This record gives sequence, C-alpha cells and structure tokens, in this order.
Amino acid sequence: MITVLAAALTAAVFWCLGYRAHAHAAAFRAEQAARLHGPHPAAVADEIAIGLQALAEACCDRWWTSAGAEHDRPCTSRWATTVACCPECTVEPGIPCHEDGQPLAYAHDRRIQEAKETSP
Ligand SMILES: [Zn+2]
Ligand SMILES: [Zn+2]
Repeated sequence: MITVLAAALTAAVFWCLGYRAHAHAAAFRAEQAARLHGPHPAAVADEIAIGLQALAEACCDRWWTSAGAEHDRPCTSRWATTVACCPECTVEPGIPCHEDGQPLAYAHDRRIQEAKETSP
C-alpha cells in the first residue's frame, strides 16, 4: 500500500514539474512574440546606431563584452595608456585619455601611434 502511495505521489510531483516547465515555455514564447512587435522600428534603428557608436569607441573586444570591467590581455589601448603620453589630450603615461573633461576608456589613435613609435 505504501508503495502504491509513494508511486502516486511521485507521479503527482512529476506531473507538477512537467506542467511548470510547460507553463514557463509558454510564457517565454508569449514574451518573445510581444517583443517582436514591441518597439517601434525607428527606435530599434536608433538603438542599433547607438550600439555601433559605442562599439566604435570601445577599447577592445573583451572590454566591450564585459561592459568595461576587463580588457584583452594584449590590449593596445591600455598598453598605449601605460607607456605613452597622449599628443591629443596631453596627459602623462598612466593617465587615461580625456574628452570634454571626461576620462575615456580607450586611448586616442595618436597615443597608440606614439606608443608604437617610442616603445615598439
Ligand atoms: Zn582594452
Ligand atoms: Zn588622448
């Protein structure tokens, strides 16, 4: 008798779990469908443009994917920042480049150039 009860209970638990998984999948599909029709195409285009702009200013791939927390091992920007002065914003080695008073996460092209010339 106990075995039968246990079996019934197990079946009930599995049924519940299965149902939950199904409900989750349905909710996920509904959300996907809503998103597909959600934002206005122009807004999406804007977001893509902003994304591309941010990507162009990003230091290195790793920096980009980690949201600014990490750098590639041989990161040209960071290396240039450490070894060279920046001719563009006249900062000493070790000080990050600036633009409009804001420190940049990447080095100016001229600084990378400078770094390659002074310490190849
Ligand atoms: Zn980097
Ligand atoms: Zn600079």
